[in-house]
Amino acid sequence: MAVTAVTAAPMVAAAGYRGRFAPSPTGPLHMGSLVTALASWLDARAHGGQWLVRIEDIDMPRCVRGADEDILLTLERLGMTPDEPPVWQSRHEPFYADALRHLDAAGQLYPCGCSRKEIADSLVHVRERHQTLGYPGTCRHGLNGKLPRAWRVRVPDGPAATLCFDDRWQGRQCQDLETELGDFVLRRADGLWAYQLAVVVDDGRQGITHIVRGADLLDSTPRQIHLQHLLGLPTPAYLHVPVVVNGTGEKLSKQSGAQAIDTGAPLDALREAGAHLGLSSSANQVQGWLAQATDAWRQRLATLPQPPHG
Ligand code: GLU
Repeated sequence: MAVTAVTAAPMVAAAGYRGRFAPSPTGPLHMGSLVTALASWLDARAHGGQWLVRIEDIDMPRCVRGADEDILLTLERLGMTPDEPPVWQSRHEPFYADALRHLDAAGQLYPCGCSRKEIADSLVHVRERHQTLGYPGTCRHGLNGKLPRAWRVRVPDGPAATLCFDDRWQGRQCQDLETELGDFVLRRADGLWAYQLAVVVDDGRQGITHIVRGADLLDSTPRQIHLQHLLGLPTPAYLHVPVVVNGTGEKLSKQSGAQAIDTGAPLDALREAGAHLGLSSSANQVQGWLAQATDAWRQRLATLPQPPHG
């Protein structure tokens, strides 16, 4: 049953386009994250909308000191400045706690005492970014003497478990939350907030209407839509751009050795990122390049799959 979360009230009326880039400050911006930043910036500009930056620093052990400022400076050198001051998720803990309380009051939450090993032994899929183990529901009906470790949200059973959405780039996507995933963690055993909860609460509070990000997050989206429903939040439009891979087909990331963007050559960086998105622009200054790329993106949008009722 849907509940209304007071915490989730948007800070602004969600009229008009509001997009965002939400990097985790685990290192400097690299070509993979620049492509996502650029796509989200272009989409906002092509719609005459606002573009925000949110630093997703809740997974503290993975964050690198100074990476947030470094990312913001790189974006600025590349001509992409946010329309509002950036926000940091680490300052939003009370909002996540409030959302958790609402889900608990609605009977959608339960404590889980299973260790990763116990879950792994009982199966399942390991996912990419924001990895998670599928959960067989062991603690759904009680802890059976185990100590509570994490907090999980229930997913629907049966036909209601299949959640579909129309991605603006990838087309229609469906996921069976029950069989492909199971009840998922919102507060981790180490006390940290799960990405899935934080991102939904913040997108809701910031009145985000359009989410543009990498396709490796496609399989997180149904979980986020499920949480939006439970928290009484609107579902934004989604567009997932193909991820950038290295020579061996691995997704570019700090772990796969991606190089930091060279801010001394901003136009080269933009050209390379634009090429990954299939956009070209002959301008030889940053602002001119971005203006031409915005036109090219607008034309590109017209060729993407249209939502059935859009
Ligand atoms: N901070 C997330 C990440 O870098 C991205 C979140 C999002 O765009 O929804 O993995």
